[in-house]
Amino acid sequence: MKVGILTIGNELTSGKTQDTNSSFIVREVNRQGWEVAMMMAVGDDTPEIGKALAHILAAADAVIVTGGLGPTADDITTDAIAAAFGLKLYTDETALEKIRQRFAKRNYHWTGNNAKQAMFPEGAEPIANPVGTAWGFSLKRDGKIVAVMPGVPVEARQMLTDGVIPRLRREFPHAARHVAVKIIKLSGIGESSVDQILAPVDFAGMGVALGSYPNFPEIQLALTARDADQGTAEERVRAAAVAVTEKLKKHIFAFDGDTLEGVVAALLTEKHLTLAVAESCTGGLITDRLTDVPGSSLFLERAAVTYSNLSKSELLGVPEEVIGKFGAVSRETAILMAEGVRRIGHTDLGLAATGIAGPSGGTDVKPVGTVFIALADGRTTVCRDFLLAGGRRRIKVAASQFALILLKDYLSGHEHG
Ligand code: ATP
Ligand code: MG
Repeated sequence: MKVGILTIGNELTSGKTQDTNSSFIVREVNRQGWEVAMMMAVGDDTPEIGKALAHILAAADAVIVTGGLGPTADDITTDAIAAAFGLKLYTDETALEKIRQRFAKRNYHWTGNNAKQAMFPEGAEPIANPVGTAWGFSLKRDGKIVAVMPGVPVEARQMLTDGVIPRLRREFPHAARHVAVKIIKLSGIGESSVDQILAPVDFAGMGVALGSYPNFPEIQLALTARDADQGTAEERVRAAAVAVTEKLKKHIFAFDGDTLEGVVAALLTEKHLTLAVAESCTGGLITDRLTDVPGSSLFLERAAVTYSNLSKSELLGVPEEVIGKFGAVSRETAILMAEGVRRIGHTDLGLAATGIAGPSGGTDVKPVGTVFIALADGRTTVCRDFLLAGGRRRIKVAASQFALILLKDYLSGHEHG
């Protein structure tokens, strides 16, 4: 079964509000094993709403609409939909009573235009709004369903799961297909390289759809299979994930809802290892990410943002002569930062990052984007250097990513180049 999404509101087409309703509707529709045929946004404009509806209904079995159900004059969605189908409006007494009760309970002042929110096109089934005033409705025309909800995201979210999805499942019982999804997260490789490496794999032949979503600094691959049988869908996705893992193993850092920092935190905790971090160009970002993980106090002993040369000497014990001779951004300094923070923190591991985030400060030998990341464990210290592209923020984010990857590779026993 195919579903279309129509979001309505001048605030969307003028760019004042970002359309977040579509995103969660898409996710819910996919979870049901249905397909999204198209998504569209139009302003509060009767003819445009009519044209959009006709266009979507030509391609989909159902359309889910949000926005413009309020009491004010600019909320015209109900009228526009009724007009599009040549239907009159009726007042639903149950809805009207519930809306009146809601006003009374909260001591809101009742104005005549509030009654508008209990009016629906003839033949429509009202959908209760447990978290707001404007009710929604669903309407069946020529075997297709039009389901309408208010624009306020918390209200739409609730009514989607409580009212709209159950109605669609009821109307299209045979469309219910099981869906299995596996997300594979990669880093340190470009999207086109991923594409090329995976080109020989026949995903379609395996009954799996492959989606690639760059989400800097990661690439997420989504493997999706749909089938009448849940086990079959899951088995297909599992087989496809094995094929992807074989080809891209060294770039994969997490699956599904896992994050890089979450994986690193789990490894540190499992191995009972403690960590101290010294950050220069990343300004605390590595530590910020690690402390997003609940329970990070189990492994993170301390972190220092040592931005100046003086702080690198004072707090980490990096000799001034080393910084003077090789520079604050150098392999030598990075190594001594990692070893220094480890020694001072009395931890198993010391992680350090130093680099040039730009836009100034670059030289021919060390251009903007040069980053050194070092990891010390008391026996050896590894240091990797990178030349990262982009503005300050991008360089910081990428540097934090590579620092966490270095740590993850170390913890999972991978070799370093
Ligand atoms: P209300 O009764 O609250 O007026 P409504 O159905 O009329 O409900 P709108 O007036 O269209 O809803 O939108 C209410 C608010 O919800 C808007 O100010 C906007 O911030 C937000 N909103 C509307 N549509 C979307 C959307 N597609 N994505 C995210 N937010 C939205
Ligand atoms: Mg409104």
